[in-house]
Amino acid sequence: MKPSTEQTAIVIGAGVAGLATAIRMAASGIGTAVYERASGPGGKLKEEHTKGYRFDLGPSLFTMPELVMELDRLTRSSAHVQADKLPEVFRYQTLDRSTHYFWEDATRIVAWADRKAFKEAVLQAVEVEPHALDHHLNHSQTIYEATRKLFLEQSLHEWKRFSWPAFSKAIPHLHRLPWFGSLHRLNRKRLHEPHLVQLFDRYATYNGSDPHRAPAMLHAIPHLEHGIGTFFPEGGMMGIVHHLFALAQSLGVAFHFDQSVQKIVHRNGHVKGIVVELDSRPHHVQADIVVSNADIHPTYRKLLPDIKAPEHILKQERSSSGVIFYWGVKGERKELHLHNILFSKNYRQEFQTIDALGHPGNDPTVYINITSKLQPSDAPSGCENWFVMVNVSADPETIDAEMPTIRRAVLDKISRTLGHSISNLIETESILTPRDIENRTSSWRGALYGASSNNALAAFLRHRNRSKQVKGLYFCGGSVHPGGGIPLCLLSARIASELIQTTTP
Ligand code: FAD
Repeated sequence: MKPSTEQTAIVIGAGVAGLATAIRMAASGIGTAVYERASGPGGKLKEEHTKGYRFDLGPSLFTMPELVMELDRLTRSSAHVQADKLPEVFRYQTLDRSTHYFWEDATRIVAWADRKAFKEAVLQAVEVEPHALDHHLNHSQTIYEATRKLFLEQSLHEWKRFSWPAFSKAIPHLHRLPWFGSLHRLNRKRLHEPHLVQLFDRYATYNGSDPHRAPAMLHAIPHLEHGIGTFFPEGGMMGIVHHLFALAQSLGVAFHFDQSVQKIVHRNGHVKGIVVELDSRPHHVQADIVVSNADIHPTYRKLLPDIKAPEHILKQERSSSGVIFYWGVKGERKELHLHNILFSKNYRQEFQTIDALGHPGNDPTVYINITSKLQPSDAPSGCENWFVMVNVSADPETIDAEMPTIRRAVLDKISRTLGHSISNLIETESILTPRDIENRTSSWRGALYGASSNNALAAFLRHRNRSKQVKGLYFCGGSVHPGGGIPLCLLSARIASELIQTTTP
């Protein structure tokens, strides 16, 4: 039966996936309320202002803006929108390059959006067979196009609703997909040249995985950057949250901040609502539909203690976490741009060290994001806002104890690679650790992307978007199908909403 305007829905959590699900439900006429334990929307997307600097605290790379535009269009065309409350159309710019790559041996590559310019930059920097790069990027496109509709845009758990047309379109390409082996093995076999292999290995970290263990199928990811493009939202990454929040409000979604959901209530196999704590007392809110945007781990362990949890899913290895330093830095460095990667000398060893110690040791790969390069108001004149991140294990206890070591290693790496120290140029500092990520968003162990993709079956071991045990209960967000990162979270919202439209009792 289709949901009606009589029905009420609750979304637990106002992360991007929660916001997107709320927009989709409200646009179709379902009365929707969002309960969020933090004091505002965004989840992992937050910002901080300090001494004239603005920092995006979470994601920094924006791909697939069409998924935000889709929500924009859906809202504007909804019969349930209050037109006078609509925000302006979502704005973003297309970037002429994705990343500036640096190695300690002075190799540098700018990954231009233009394929020819990127190829020239690569051929000038390293020795590689000229067609190898083209073939590799074309292969990435093939994988992306064959798998997107099949694995990312629909549930993998609802065979009755499985899109056989999408499957038949993929059939001619199935023999070209890398079904076996790791991402690193594929890159090494195709490219040989170590700098270029490392550059393409890096895409495993897009979902918090290790290229030496993650499946070669992740070679779909480079097409996102090199084929489709990278983008920068007006107002920084927080611009995405402001926009989704405004769309939801224009559809009449009710937001309840600073309200932590304690329990999902269900009876006789049907969802009945939630319990929130109000004035230190449990308060029952009824609903016909509940969607959890909270990490799947606490969703089962805390909100559904009376249900048999899917242990094989909850025990999946977590994705990596991160330590991020937000530095207000005096001076401007011409060689850096919005996204910059300073690579370690030995990627395999770096991942092995992360496995053993929890952090990358004394030669980390360092990511530096500087939004003031594109949005000068993000830093005082003559200064830059550096977001500096290293990958670490989702292991709050270990990382807490290692913070001084990690900070020192990051600063040394920057000095060695760029040829000058920035220690004395840092005028403001704040830090985000796995423990902060867990405390602020309830993300289990502070993982950035839910479960890792460090095994061939990972895509099939993410939690489904609809509960099998409780009718009317759904799941969205980075810890469920199809996975973490803003685009996949927005797709999870689309899948959950489609299931709500077709399966709500
Ligand atoms: P979350 O953002 O985790 O939000 C869940 C919300 O649920 C939170 O607000 C939480 O407070 C709320 N909640 C939980 N439990 C309860 C409860 N009991 N009651 C009420 N509310 C509750 N992705 C990219 O695409 N590009 C990047 O460059 C990128 N870099 C990243 C860098 C960092 C440092 C981090 C932290 C993440 C990064 N990611 C990146 C990943 C991306 O941020 C996430 O995949 C995405 O934002 C997750 O969104 P979500 O909707 O699943 O949930």
